[in-house]
Amino acid sequence: MIKNTWAEPYKIKMVEPVFMSTESHRKKAIEEAGFNTFLLKSEDVYIDLLTDSGTSAMSDRQWAGLMLGDEAYAGSRNFYSLEETINKYYGYKYVVPTHQGRGAEHIISQILISEGDVIPGNMYFTTTRLHQQLAGGKFVDVIIDEAHDPENIFPFKGNIDLEKLEDLIKEVGAERIPYVAIATTVNMAGGQPLSLANLKAVRELTDKYGIKIIHDMTRVAENAFMIQQIEEGYADKSVAEIVLEICSLTDGATMSAKKDAMVNIGGFLAVNDYDIFDQARNMVVVYEGLHTYGGLAGRDLEAMAIGISESVRDEHMHARIGQVYYLGKKLEKKGIPIVLPIGTHGVFLDAKKFLPHIPQDRFPAQTLAAELYTESGIRAMERGVVSAGRNKETGEHNYPDLELLRLTIPRRVYTQAHMDVIVEAVCNVFERRESIKGLKMTYEPKYLRFFQARFEQVKHTIPEVSLKQDALLEV
Ligand SMILES: *Cc1c(COP(=O)(O)O)cnc(C)c1O
Repeated sequence: MIKNTWAEPYKIKMVEPVFMSTESHRKKAIEEAGFNTFLLKSEDVYIDLLTDSGTSAMSDRQWAGLMLGDEAYAGSRNFYSLEETINKYYGYKYVVPTHQGRGAEHIISQILISEGDVIPGNMYFTTTRLHQQLAGGKFVDVIIDEAHDPENIFPFKGNIDLEKLEDLIKEVGAERIPYVAIATTVNMAGGQPLSLANLKAVRELTDKYGIKIIHDMTRVAENAFMIQQIEEGYADKSVAEIVLEICSLTDGATMSAKKDAMVNIGGFLAVNDYDIFDQARNMVVVYEGLHTYGGLAGRDLEAMAIGISESVRDEHMHARIGQVYYLGKKLEKKGIPIVLPIGTHGVFLDAKKFLPHIPQDRFPAQTLAAELYTESGIRAMERGVVSAGRNKETGEHNYPDLELLRLTIPRRVYTQAHMDVIVEAVCNVFERRESIKGLKMTYEPKYLRFFQARFEQVKHTIPEVSLKQDALLEV
């Protein structure tokens, strides 16, 4: 599908040395971090695949943009340059900058969601769902079933199941659904795209019931590239054209510019409805900052605007996703269980298959993250039962079908040789997988627990038990 010549359309102008650690150093570091890779010091990491969020390399133009920062409290020229860029590349009319994606999620959730509302979406995202809940809403997953099966190679696993969506609308009533949440691409499904055919059908259905679509456009250009590569009728369209078409089918968007737009910090809310914009512009003053800076410096707004224009270039996306595919294909050839098709922002290891002897309440993906770090200094992220949190009503763990370890690739940061090192390290852990034991949670924060939870290694792999019974067990 993707041509082999994904070689980078840029050259390296500045380098950042990384720490080459020893295994004994890493063993100590991961123990001190409570076996949670989020709690490691970045200094102790060799290749950092924790996230692609805010970790990409800015271009010389973006760095130059920082020097053009107009740090006026109000009406900074960089705001107008961002607004113009968003109008041009995404087509949304009104823009409210926020410090990052979740700032925008907070504002749109508070404006549109009332107590008891239901928000259907193509799989949850951690911060998005939490803000929907904090606003009194309930998220309902209406993604196609294929998305929950890591081995299913359906190319558009980000698609909405139209039947599930319409059944839900009929069940709860359109007036209880403020909007359908559409993510491009679907992070929690393994970085899977949604097709334009599906989005058009969702638009038609929501129009029939008078329901809005709010777009989590964090990786919209990556999604557009996949549409160009595999959806019928789009081979001759540019990524930029496809991005515009996707956005035109939705009513507004939240953006974490730390992904596609390659800035270290930044985000925005964009809408086409003036009244919603007016409310958002008022709310942002309370939570983020004045509506022309939204918690960011003028220079951040400029770097974001330039990053957006770079993100929609075909050759950039080709190299970006080409590198991820290079890694994924190599791992697949070695027999490592990964989510297929390969995602756009990373390769997701299937921890249930990698460590089949570890029950889900012994956190297989979390365990794998700790093992990979100890093996190689590579830091990855759990996307499984720890990330899924607990059921609000029963207090039990949510047990997602997908128990994944995400090897996320920052944009323009690592080389092909780094990809080869990653393959080698994963294979080494795979070879000794049978000797790996699980973890038990020793500290659990109330919100988004995966960020700060702490764990201990268990001595024996034990049969499935509820975490609540831990105190009774000799582990
Ligand atoms: C990162 C992300 C967010 C939240 O954005 P932040 O900038 O981290 O607050 C929302 N949705 C998706 C799909 C993301 O990947």
